[in-house]
Amino acid sequence: MTSSNDNLSSKLELQKRLQHRLKSRTDTTSRPTPRTYDQLPQYLRQVLPDNYTYIIKSYKEIELEKFEGAPTAAFDSTFYVNIASTEAIEEWRSAFHNKTGTVFRITRADKVKGIKVIYHKDFHCRHADIAAIKYMQKTYAQKAGQRRSRNTNCQCLAKIRLEKSRLNLSHPCEIHLLYNHNHPLETLNITPQTPSIASYE
Ligand SMILES: [Zn+2]
Repeated sequence: MTSSNDNLSSKLELQKRLQHRLKSRTDTTSRPTPRTYDQLPQYLRQVLPDNYTYIIKSYKEIELEKFEGAPTAAFDSTFYVNIASTEAIEEWRSAFHNKTGTVFRITRADKVKGIKVIYHKDFHCRHADIAAIKYMQKTYAQKAGQRRSRNTNCQCLAKIRLEKSRLNLSHPCEIHLLYNHNHPLETLNITPQTPSIASYE
């Protein structure tokens, strides 16, 4: 009787310890804490607007380009921002543009329409090859030549999502940002008169 009791209590003890270990593991991975701008990795600090807090879902640094005037940050990251409306997303995009000089074009907008989705847009750098392709589909060769000279086949892109199911969370807006320009950002620190930083062409 005593031995089976001992057995049981040691089993319970073991279970408790396992649960504790599991819990502490869960705490560090699947419940990330929001970071203020100052707590972000250096590359993100160079690029992300600072008046927000971020929850980083994934973050991978990319080797920097070495040419003259190459951007000094390169990464692939998905993060959540404390943004809960379309207007606030546009403000964030505007701040991002002003800070980095990145000019985004819309690759596709609100393709998934429905009551669950508030904002769903994909963007690509205006130096991307896809811009040239889209442009040439719509226009004639004379202007296409102009566009082609801008095309460096840049891969920089952003995917921004805001879904109703996340609105009750502290950081509802999800942004996937692949930041790896392969050209200098010539418009750096110049604020355009118009807030339209992305447009259809
Ligand atoms: Zn680019």
